[in-house]
Amino acid sequence: MTISIPELALVVLVGPSGSGKSTFARRHFKATEILSSDHFRAMIADDENEQSVTFGAFELLYLTAAKRLAAGRLTVIDATNVKADSRKECLQLARRYHVQPVAIVFDLPEGLCAARAEGRAERPVAANVVQKHANSLRHSFHMLESEGFKSIHVLATPEEVDAVTIVRERLPVNRREETGPFDLIGDVHGCIDEFKELLDKLGYVVSESGISPPEGRKLVFVGDLIDRGPDSLGVLRMVMQMVETGTALCVRGNHDDKLLRKLQGRDITIGHGLAETLEQLAKEPPEFLDQVRLFLESLPTHYVLDGGKLVVAHAGLKEHLHGRVSDRVRAFCLYGDTTGESDAHGLPVRLNWAEEYKGRAMVVYGHTPKLAAEWQNKTICIDTACAFGNLLTALRYPEGELVSVPARQQYAEPRRPFGATTPPSASAAVP
Ligand code: GDP
Ligand code: MG
Repeated sequence: MTISIPELALVVLVGPSGSGKSTFARRHFKATEILSSDHFRAMIADDENEQSVTFGAFELLYLTAAKRLAAGRLTVIDATNVKADSRKECLQLARRYHVQPVAIVFDLPEGLCAARAEGRAERPVAANVVQKHANSLRHSFHMLESEGFKSIHVLATPEEVDAVTIVRERLPVNRREETGPFDLIGDVHGCIDEFKELLDKLGYVVSESGISPPEGRKLVFVGDLIDRGPDSLGVLRMVMQMVETGTALCVRGNHDDKLLRKLQGRDITIGHGLAETLEQLAKEPPEFLDQVRLFLESLPTHYVLDGGKLVVAHAGLKEHLHGRVSDRVRAFCLYGDTTGESDAHGLPVRLNWAEEYKGRAMVVYGHTPKLAAEWQNKTICIDTACAFGNLLTALRYPEGELVSVPARQQYAEPRRPFGATTPPSASAAVP
């Protein structure tokens, strides 16, 4: 049996005393990854079995878990966790640090657990205690999913426990090994002519057979490939091909996400240019719609690139969310740091996270149309409002050079004025 665990996860072991949790943990995880309640009891009272210090032991255990998760380290909680209350503490930690909670449940025969627990030389536990654990576990099964565990693995026999192989799954947002150099492209929004001109200016050769990059370079799109401009499908086709052949990476924008939800058959309000994109799509064969859907589904919320030195997200991302996966991360990447309120134009009020950004990684994003791309701390928005008649912009990484082409015309009317605090410039120094 193979258990896949995301490389950054909170693994919660669940099972009565004597069910083999600690033995399993030692076999499959690094000693520093395992936080065991017995160990923390011993840290406080020199005795793994000293129940009077249990409260303090768990305080330390959860605090240590919090520090590890904040540092982006996989963490295993080795305690019985047979009660909903103790699992709740674990789930809150997973939520707070935007990591996936995984439950591994040791549902072994009670008699076996009791015999093992009683016979354990270093820490014998009485059969009636094991029985209580087993009862609590029995009541837990139907709750685990609704409590919030993203994956639940139940092991019911010693043979099953023995046969487990743990595979650590890389998170789709983690592409640290991609070191570039990159050409990061702002919101294209269907502006195919400007896109081709920009590719040409960057040294990419566009031909019938595909797009060839200058030696070693790769494109990275900040999302919002579609809507507003004249040829959303043309842009989609090109980017889909480039992503497929490994010439490009692309994160999901809010417009791409909305089209995806439509293609998945969900109920959405159609606006901001999506109607035209859907009209164009209606003329396409169903296979193409499937391809578009699969492509959009494959786009991650953000990418962590170049050993963690570069983060690309459609609407940017605060440092503590880099490389993580949760609904909050998804919402931030798609829409930015919104307050939930609307402004006088009916658009969401945005907080300026970039102003306070002190992170180590450079964050490149789009989403908010600007007259010119400009640095704010180590972040840069490269959406220069091409569809609104301004510019399409690329950022060359690591060079820090900005390359823009002017829009050939204004394709859509902005709902609120867009701007920048300084005039457009051809390049900007990397901070
Ligand atoms: P925990 O209380 O759930 O952490 O259980 P432990 O891992 O401490 O295991 C309880 C006792 O059962 C220990 O003495 C282990 O050596 C033993 N044990 C655990 N797993 C196995 C197993 O797969 N096979 C056998 N034979 N003994 C096991
Ligand atoms: Mg144990």
